[in-house]
Amino acid sequence: MRPESLSRSLKRKFYVFGVLLGALTMLITWAFKAGQSPFILYGYPVLIAATLAVGWLAWTRSHLIARLEGGLFFAISGFFLGKIGFLLLFSQDRQQAWVEVQAGYWALLFAYLFAFLAFSAPKALWLSLTVNAAAFAINLAILLPSVARGGAADELIEAGRFGVRTFTLILLLYLLAQYKAALSDERRRGVELFAEARTDPLTDLPNRRALEERLRERVAQGQPFTVLMIDVDHFKGFNDRHGHAAGDAILRHVGQRLRRALREGDLVGRWGGEEFAVVSGEGSLGQAKLLAECLRQHVSERPIDGQYAVTASFGVAVYEPRESLEELLERADTGLYQAKRGGRNMVVG
Ligand code: GH3
Ligand code: MG
Ligand code: MG
Repeated sequence: MRPESLSRSLKRKFYVFGVLLGALTMLITWAFKAGQSPFILYGYPVLIAATLAVGWLAWTRSHLIARLEGGLFFAISGFFLGKIGFLLLFSQDRQQAWVEVQAGYWALLFAYLFAFLAFSAPKALWLSLTVNAAAFAINLAILLPSVARGGAADELIEAGRFGVRTFTLILLLYLLAQYKAALSDERRRGVELFAEARTDPLTDLPNRRALEERLRERVAQGQPFTVLMIDVDHFKGFNDRHGHAAGDAILRHVGQRLRRALREGDLVGRWGGEEFAVVSGEGSLGQAKLLAECLRQHVSERPIDGQYAVTASFGVAVYEPRESLEELLERADTGLYQAKRGGRNMVVG
């Protein structure tokens, strides 16, 4: 499984589990503490419903998870910033309010986590720092007048400690996110290099390495398959007459003509120089020669760029189970050699 879909399916299970756990916790709190505050009495049922809705979305629409995470960051941040402000401004029981405010700080940590899951590391950093600074500023605004009157100093120190702790955690999250981004960049580069190492830069076709890998796979499967060796006729003379650049263009055209004439699943690549090779699923020599004949006609049917008549010779071999790859290629080469000896622009197998 690719890492993206793996992490998506993991997240899906994780979120549904988290949602059920969260909903259960809120339900228990509501059952036992509903009498203590109107917020729990009326707010929690709404929160429970919203939490279950989020879980349902994560389960049924897993492609929306990134947007869901972004939404959760804003929802949790907005909700708890509002709650902190409300509690400290209007709550009568300061001690109880302070306990709730501390719980709010914890909830904000979840919001920061969602920000780093949903957004790029720099964006998540400034969003989280902004919310954290806002939480701290609300605390200060509410506590400072009491401090000026000689109270709430302990709460102020606690608020400061929370602010610093969450600030440090945000920085650590940022470091982790950057580390993850660097790793996935490296992985992407690895995938690119893998493709590059198997592509011929002139024709953009698979190169000999890619062809040999496919051949080895086929041999390992042990079923008959076809290999065609294709060599452009009198190419040295063409280069001498028209120049190397024109020769390069011809190789590109021949490659395209071969590719267009093949079915999906068959592989054509540049074997080297002015030689191409095809690995096809054809399992009988008769079918293989028909395929080669069709390709030969495609290469030579019309002059390239309206002026260069080009032909190619074909050697055909069908893999016989238990022979080695070298023996198979040797037979295809022998066919090609005979096609050249026989006058070129022909198929021998
Ligand atoms: P034959 O019909 O017997 O195959 O004759 P040929 O001239 O095609 O064969 P030979 O092996 O004598 O010459 C192959 C030529 O292909 C020589 C070389 O300059 C040319 N060639 C190989 N690779 C390239 C390339 O990348 N670009 C160009 N323009 N020419 C190439
Ligand atoms: Mg050659
Ligand atoms: Mg040639």
